[in-house]
Amino acid sequence: MSIETVSLSGRKKQVANKKMTFAERIYIIAIAKGMWTTLKHMFKKKVTISYPEQTRPFSDVYRGRHMLMRDDEGRERCTACGLCALSCPAEAITMKAAERTADEKHLYREEKYAEIYEINMLRCIFCGLCEEACPKQAIYLTKSKQIVFSDTSRESFIFGKEELVMPLEMAIKNTQKTQA
Ligand code: SF4
Ligand code: SF4
Repeated sequence: MSIETVSLSGRKKQVANKKMTFAERIYIIAIAKGMWTTLKHMFKKKVTISYPEQTRPFSDVYRGRHMLMRDDEGRERCTACGLCALSCPAEAITMKAAERTADEKHLYREEKYAEIYEINMLRCIFCGLCEEACPKQAIYLTKSKQIVFSDTSRESFIFGKEELVMPLEMAIKNTQKTQA
């Protein structure tokens, strides 16, 4: 009993193991057909661009690289609560908490801070759930055009605090802007 299979794509073709004709064996017609397809595409508008020389415009809702934010006084906002890591579907975030000492009050806003904070960019899917979960507004996926660089070693895709924490000059500029 033969079972009729249904083609989900609608592009199913019946194939037969019949003997090839002379014209089919010399492949001239097949080559000509292939060349015609190539020629047709040569005069169409290209759908690809020459990246990185050319770039496409970024969407308004584009989510770029993460940034660990500072407050108005330039102190790191993150309190190493771990909610971002818990909410991350890709398990890309790891951190180690430390207690702030009396002479570190100008560096960290809360009594507890992230001594180590790492995001594995090879795992990250830029979903933004870490940003949504953060109760301290400490992590943001920025609109920065800077995307994750290409590299040949896996280690270089693990971004630590050096790559993630907002530069101090940027925090000072932001404060000046809000005060103006
Ligand atoms: S953007 Fe999504 S995948 Fe990337 S670190 Fe945040 S929660 Fe994880
Ligand atoms: S970034 Fe926010 S959610 Fe993540 S550990 Fe720091 S304070 Fe908690």
